[in-house]
Amino acid sequence: MCGIVGYVGSKQACPILLEGLSKLEYRGYDSAGIAVYDGNKIDVKKARGRLRVLSDMVDGGQNVKGVMGIGHTRWATHGEPSDVNSHPHVSSSGRFAVVHNGIIENYLPLKKRLMEKGFQFVSETDTEVIAHLFEYYYKGDLLEAMTKVLHRVEGSYALGVLCSDYPDSFVAVRKASPMIVGVGRGENFIASDVTAILNHTRNVYYLEDDEIVMLSADSVKIYNTDREEIKKEIFRVNWDVSSAEKGGYEHFMMKEIEEQPKALRDTISPRIKDGKIVLDEVSLTAKDIASLRKIYIVACGSAYHVGVVGKYTIERMCRIPVEVEVASEFRYHDPLISEGDLVIVISQSGETADTLAALKEAKSRGARILSIVNVVGSAIANASDDVIYTWAGPEIAVATTKAYSTQLAVIYLIAVYMAEKLGKLTDEQYKNLISELSALPDKVAEILKNKEEIQYLASQFFSCKSIFFIGRNIDYAVSLEGSLKLKEISYIHSEAYAAGELKHGTISLIEEGTLVVALATGSALYDKTISNVKEVKARGAVVMAVTAASREHTEDVCDYVIRIPDADELVLPSLSVVPLQLFGYYVASLKGCDIDKPRNLAKSVTVE
Ligand code: GLU
Repeated sequence: MCGIVGYVGSKQACPILLEGLSKLEYRGYDSAGIAVYDGNKIDVKKARGRLRVLSDMVDGGQNVKGVMGIGHTRWATHGEPSDVNSHPHVSSSGRFAVVHNGIIENYLPLKKRLMEKGFQFVSETDTEVIAHLFEYYYKGDLLEAMTKVLHRVEGSYALGVLCSDYPDSFVAVRKASPMIVGVGRGENFIASDVTAILNHTRNVYYLEDDEIVMLSADSVKIYNTDREEIKKEIFRVNWDVSSAEKGGYEHFMMKEIEEQPKALRDTISPRIKDGKIVLDEVSLTAKDIASLRKIYIVACGSAYHVGVVGKYTIERMCRIPVEVEVASEFRYHDPLISEGDLVIVISQSGETADTLAALKEAKSRGARILSIVNVVGSAIANASDDVIYTWAGPEIAVATTKAYSTQLAVIYLIAVYMAEKLGKLTDEQYKNLISELSALPDKVAEILKNKEEIQYLASQFFSCKSIFFIGRNIDYAVSLEGSLKLKEISYIHSEAYAAGELKHGTISLIEEGTLVVALATGSALYDKTISNVKEVKARGAVVMAVTAASREHTEDVCDYVIRIPDADELVLPSLSVVPLQLFGYYVASLKGCDIDKPRNLAKSVTVE
């Protein structure tokens, strides 16, 4: 999520850190900070806002002196973007300064323990526990303190740590968050992404999980958590700077598609504790849930498609009526909302103008607002009663992929959470659903291994003029998203239809060779959808089906079949959408479209 840079050498550190951070600003952008050892103590400067606020504060790096330092651009997860929550975080004595990328999942019990021992916290971040833990465990050996801290923390982290007792060296580590080490002549670096250091060196070490690095101007030593030194090979980077920003991918969209397993894990796993879904963010009690008359889901674009899945899922599991509506309609149709109704609002940016206006409209009528948002401290988050954040990290490509997937994950968490509170699930069912949710990231990763299959299919169809998507129930909801993904980036006309509805008019558009993508994943409606496939095939359509591994005889009816892993129907949309994202991507790529910035579109729609 955030960007980290570290430097030790003989040059002034601050300008180098600022330059590195400027390359990483795409990773995090709500605040920035640096810590530089000035020969005496650690000097920390940090500020909310874009990097230029910090840069102005330190006069482009001129008024902070020192040849070793660490820097950070933040993408807030714990605590709003603010000066005090910005990194680096400093231990009470000022001896340690820490930058962190990721989430410390067990920070609350650690914070409680540290407070009992007299440590005082100044920020709302999870990261601050690390600074105090270093202080707590440090007995004169920085490496030893690092290993002790690592034994206590759970979650994901890339860390850079300065200690004022170590004037010539600093330490860093990573687990499930990226971190590379740049090896120069008489100077060494750490960075979240190789882009940040390419102007200085192309020789890098790629750190593995839990590898600790100790850097000084002339040496880089890598250790395991038993403090044994490890030998690693240096890698020579040949990329140019712009491709490296995308981590070697041609487009942010593909990078973000590939990041989905991690984004899903980050969103789901902190909310499953001891075999139960724990939504600390939600203040609805079991009694509140039991008294819900109706739930509205309001959103725009792909987030609205998440809402359509939400309707099927929540109604099926909780037996509470759910209405889902696009925000630009909802806000003006005098919605029938009463005091206490629940409105779930979904937005990646948390700034979507129509969604924010719909939220205000619902609130003014007494509704309780639960939002699903990716950007901490955004307008929608601030205006909501409760917020469940998706931990997708910054999404750069205009066409959403990982934000959509993590929004879906949150919808499942809400549905299962409420169903359990309503007593609608047996222990066995609850347990199974939780294990399905936990298995989701790996199943998505499995689908991504077969990207080439989808690339081949795209090569067969990229010159189509029109493509239809059909499905029933949750498959219909995913068809909406598959169709949107394709048309928004490839500019091919596309429509999504409820499979049984096609024959009431639209089927007249099917002619010899028209591609119909049929989603038939669930077992209950599989045969029904296959009947609709036969109807379009009889009129000349070519059919590409997306179905689950164990559905039988699909190849007998359909021309092409994409198989996704078997899973409970609850989570099938998260799997079936992935080949459709890839299909849209490859079709657009073959057509030579500007994938990350499609014409006429903007990432965050802050106008009506
Ligand atoms: N969890 C940390 C915070 O909220 C780090 C976020 C990041 O990776 O930028 O401050």
